[in-house]
Amino acid sequence: MTNHNLKVPADGQEIGYENGVLSVPERPIVPFIEGDGIGPDIWRAARRVLDGAVDRSYAGSRSIAWMEILAGEKAKRERDDWLPPETVDAVRHFRGAIKGPLTTPVGGGIRSLNVALRQILDLYACIRPVRHFKGVPSPVKAPGKVDMVIFRENTEDVYAGIEWEEGSGGARELIEFLRNKLGKRVREDSGIGIKPVSVTGSKRLVRKALQYCVDRGRTDLTLVHKGNIMKFTEGAFKEWGYEVAAQEFGEWTVSEKQLWDELGGALPAGKILVKDRIADAMFQQILLRPAEYQVLATTNLNGDYLSDALAAQVGGLGMAPGSNEGDGLAVFEATHGTAPKYAGLDKVNPGSLILSGVMLLRWLGWPEAAAAVEEALQRTIAEKRVTYDLERQMKGATLLKTSEFAAAIVGNLG
Ligand code: NAP
Repeated sequence: MTNHNLKVPADGQEIGYENGVLSVPERPIVPFIEGDGIGPDIWRAARRVLDGAVDRSYAGSRSIAWMEILAGEKAKRERDDWLPPETVDAVRHFRGAIKGPLTTPVGGGIRSLNVALRQILDLYACIRPVRHFKGVPSPVKAPGKVDMVIFRENTEDVYAGIEWEEGSGGARELIEFLRNKLGKRVREDSGIGIKPVSVTGSKRLVRKALQYCVDRGRTDLTLVHKGNIMKFTEGAFKEWGYEVAAQEFGEWTVSEKQLWDELGGALPAGKILVKDRIADAMFQQILLRPAEYQVLATTNLNGDYLSDALAAQVGGLGMAPGSNEGDGLAVFEATHGTAPKYAGLDKVNPGSLILSGVMLLRWLGWPEAAAAVEEALQRTIAEKRVTYDLERQMKGATLLKTSEFAAAIVGNLG
């Protein structure tokens, strides 16, 4: 790192990465983007909770050297650039970063800062753990049965954004090409979108999901696809997923067929059941039999819908964390937006960013601190001391500001 705009904490150390393994020092440097709108409020709260949990869990022997990097409105103000190159360099160099929500610039030539970060850094897996915290209001009867992690492919499928407007030269040429060269008829007045799904993109995503199962002791992985309709994209995703499971994780994995034909339906200890479900059926399954699913691996659009549907089942986006990860690189983020009408009011729920911090702590290999945050958050919600979004749905709850909610969680750390 040679850039002089960054204030690198002198007492922090860099995270290393070799042969697929991170090496994390006692005081790792972790860049943060505080975010726009409500970003500063929720970041202050999240940082306080994360620092408190690390301090208590390791009796002061571990800590995080936070380093601010700029993106969004603050970067535009201070550097005249929505996403300065040094910000991208810092994430690449220091490997793990956390960010609040960012405003999507209107008419600035950038589709979205989040998408730009993912594409530049090739953060190919969008990971969303979804679980319920007891007491959080939910629209379903038994939200506690949901404990799933979604691995959503982040670089292709409709996300590649390859499209031509109806009536444009590109759309006309493609329609002609399809008719003349490939014998496929498409209505003349169609817009055209291309949905690429590659062996590379699919296999690395499923590989990451399976490695997660191995590392975290999860025993069930479901490939979600729409292969009955789109055989060579969605269907191929499923086939390539099974190939990775058999060829690279054969000693850990069992197929559904093996489970019933050879094992009498009993999964041996230490094994991972790999199965697949068609996307529409999967939406029924998450409502009807959520306890039967642990880790989902899927293409981009399916994953987009599933992530939000599952988040709604456990109480909404205010409590849903996420990360975008590549090989040895990860950006942890709040999944909601900047909620500009609440900016600076010290009002909103910092839960999504705090739980993204929990993911960061696990990624660092600090599970004790991660569990401490989850337990303290659970205790605080059980005491019905919550921010406005939860308070308005909970009988007899005490309304707290963002900062007060953070203080209550810190007070509840074991
Ligand atoms: P939003 O910022 O997520 O806010 C929509 C509503 O969701 C809020 O009015 C509020 O609902 C609720 N909400 C969001 N965060 C909350 C929190 N932490 N605690 C409690 N309630 C919360 O969505 P938006 O208004 O559509 O988007 C605003 C900006 O954010 C846009 O520029 C958009 O592009 C950007 N955005 C960024 C990201 C990202 O950086 N990852 C993601 C999505 C959107 P009530 O008013 O009903 O209480």
